[in-house]
Amino acid sequence: MTVPLERSARPSSAEQRQIEIQGEIVDYRLVRSSRRSIGLSVDRQGLRVGAPPAASLAYIETLLRQQGGWVREKLAFWRARAPLALEAGSECLWLGQPHILRRASGRVSQCHDRQLDLAARAEETDLSAAFLRWSKAQARPLFIQRLAHYAGRLGIPAPPLILSSAKSRWGSCNAKGEIRLSWRLMQFDPKLIDYVAAHEIAHLKEMNHSPRFWAIVALLYPGWRAARREIRLLARQLPQLN
Ligand SMILES: [Zn+2]
Repeated sequence: MTVPLERSARPSSAEQRQIEIQGEIVDYRLVRSSRRSIGLSVDRQGLRVGAPPAASLAYIETLLRQQGGWVREKLAFWRARAPLALEAGSECLWLGQPHILRRASGRVSQCHDRQLDLAARAEETDLSAAFLRWSKAQARPLFIQRLAHYAGRLGIPAPPLILSSAKSRWGSCNAKGEIRLSWRLMQFDPKLIDYVAAHEIAHLKEMNHSPRFWAIVALLYPGWRAARREIRLLARQLPQLN
């Protein structure tokens, strides 16, 4: 059932889609090309579905659900594997959107047209370290700005930010009033980053998860329930980066 990723010269189209399989939201890449049958493959990039142009989405989704056990087993297998080495040409989420990673020719990393040009050092064989440097450099000013925004809404001074590398503890706040946010949040949509910032700012008023705490969160970020749910789903699907 595993179909290798083909790089054909024929015109093909690709789109990111989601489907619920056995209660789990699964992202997949639907690639249409001039092939005769539907092929499913799962690798560290996730689920990929190759389909002929005429195959209906309903048919594709029925097939995915029929193969749901296999798909979830393969996804779990890859999630448990060693951290993803980011290579040129691979895809990565950046601010909630898939971006293609490239090795920048110069020393400056930049983001444009759904592409991340990363300035890797000569001795670096993949882009993992460059991605980490880029993410941290971009995260700091953004997080400081979002924390200042929500602190301002509560009329309190902006707290000191400590950038963390936590893999699932996206944010935390300590008794000294310092807020830690993980640079890994940069893979999320900015609105989800805002939720985490608002959540931690609310802790400066209430160091607990009491109804009073959630009332402050709701004041700062009315859509907090949906954001919290979305982050939980995403967290299970994110590739493991170093
Ligand atoms: Zn909390």
